[in-house]
Amino acid sequence: MTKNISRSVIIIGSGLGGLSTALRLSTQGYKVTILEKHSKPGGRLNQLKIDGFTFDVGPSFMSMSYELDELFNSVGIKTPVELEELDPLYQVYFEGKDRSYSIWKDLKKLEEEFKDLEPNLAAKVEKYLQRAGEFFHDTEDKVVKSNYNSLADYLFKLTRVPLKHLPYLFRKMWGEVEKNFESEEVRVIFSLVAFFLGSTPFETPAIYSLLNYTEMKHNGYWKVKGGMYRLVEEMMKILDEKGVEIVYNTEVVSVSNSNGKLNSLIDNHGKIWTADIFISNSDAASFRGQILGREKFSEKKLDKMEWTLAPFTMYIGVNGKIDKLMHHNYFLGSNFRGYADKIFTSSISPQKPYYYVNVLSKSVTECAPKGCENLFILCPVPDRRFKTNWDDKEELANNIIDDLSKRTGFDIKANTLVKEIYTPVDWEKMFNLYKGSGLGLAHGIMQVGAFRPKNKDEVFPNLYYVGASTTPGTGLPMVIISSKLVTQRIAEDYGTLS
Ligand SMILES: Cc1cc2nc3c(=O)[nH]c(=O)nc-3n(C[C@H](O)[C@H](O)[C@H](O)COP(=O)(O)OP(=O)(O)OC[C@H]3O[C@@H](n4cnc5c(N)ncnc54)[C@H](O)[C@@H]3O)c2cc1C
Repeated sequence: MTKNISRSVIIIGSGLGGLSTALRLSTQGYKVTILEKHSKPGGRLNQLKIDGFTFDVGPSFMSMSYELDELFNSVGIKTPVELEELDPLYQVYFEGKDRSYSIWKDLKKLEEEFKDLEPNLAAKVEKYLQRAGEFFHDTEDKVVKSNYNSLADYLFKLTRVPLKHLPYLFRKMWGEVEKNFESEEVRVIFSLVAFFLGSTPFETPAIYSLLNYTEMKHNGYWKVKGGMYRLVEEMMKILDEKGVEIVYNTEVVSVSNSNGKLNSLIDNHGKIWTADIFISNSDAASFRGQILGREKFSEKKLDKMEWTLAPFTMYIGVNGKIDKLMHHNYFLGSNFRGYADKIFTSSISPQKPYYYVNVLSKSVTECAPKGCENLFILCPVPDRRFKTNWDDKEELANNIIDDLSKRTGFDIKANTLVKEIYTPVDWEKMFNLYKGSGLGLAHGIMQVGAFRPKNKDEVFPNLYYVGASTTPGTGLPMVIISSKLVTQRIAEDYGTLS
């Protein structure tokens, strides 16, 4: 169906989900305006500059890079950023071991790396990934990249997934790695992807071992040449050419409606914004509760949902080079299960934290002054339902800095030139992340597919959702898919403009 009328769209939020939707809809002839609470575009995919150091604020890599190509191809543009594959994918430091372990995609190299810990690793990984790969390919198009019109429609689509995958639904990720690998170290490494979903392997369903398949076999991990924020910068240039208007420091705080339709949005300055169609890139669950006042998403009900872990992030510019670090590094303790089981529902700051370090200056020299290194440190912590107050943030920061200094043999404190810390309180304030949850709603079986907040509103026929807490889920490639799904919904309802 093609219609020749120009319709106006307002997108609430300029995260990757909002920007991708703006790109698709403006290309189809819609007149798009974006209202953004923050002072810069990108949402969690943001950038921080301090005294000559430039940091990527959130994401540091992406998988399923072909989704980025799909986005730009769909609007007739060559992908405007260059992607570089990570190989090794990352390195892991275990507590009590001096050396690090590199995680290679090449299974021969991986087997050599772990020869003392896990014999015949290549064959075991092959078997494990084969199973995960079958699940990935049996669900990617049929379930993940689909809109559902009803629960029945979703269940029908699930029936097209071969029954052999059923046990996957009832096992946890840790059970799956325990079945396939003998050493604790290899089990831990293969279960780390659960944290990318913002949860622990003891909570995450085994189906998500498909992420191991996407990282190690299918597509790998990619970083954007020049830093992740280049993607936002390039998208902004294209959106500008397409006439998309973006208004910063503008938070939507309420709505007004009549005749069963959403009429307008009201921002924090009291200004009223009208359009034919509205799309929320603000969290699809908390927007329904906090802005639309829906009982099903009241604070009490939101608190009962499963949310992903909150980020505690540090951005540190140091004088000197740290040889023991590469682009991606994990620093793990010695009590994985105990740590994962207790820490994320506790109000006490972790004493022996597990954390991730990304060093952009290893590949992007311009992001730090000559001879300096820029460190992004991410430590998953409880969200604000469990730990409300972060006045003690320096304690956790110092714990991590001391630990990292010991394990790299580099005195970080003495060489720190700039330092910024974002606690879950900051993340919530900056981007309206519910109680500071870093990746939005979690991905248990009862919060995916038709059970996840829908990308089309239940009440207002002209309100839609895009981003991490609607379908299909969180992470950069998923929110790009989300933008495709919501664009398809709008095309079904309004037709494609020309
Ligand atoms: C620390 C961290 C590290 C991560 N690392 C990775 C990674 O390496 N790889 C990966 O694939 N994913 C990663 N992720 C996840 C990824 O960042 C997200 O899944 C993705 O960026 C979400 O995009 P989005 O468009 O859904 O939402 P957001 O990026 O949150 O964008 C939503 C936008 O809406 C704005 N907004 C909200 N409410 C309102 C309102 N009422 N009015 C106006 N504006 C509003 C916000 O300010 C924000 O700009 C990471 C996330 C975090 C927090």
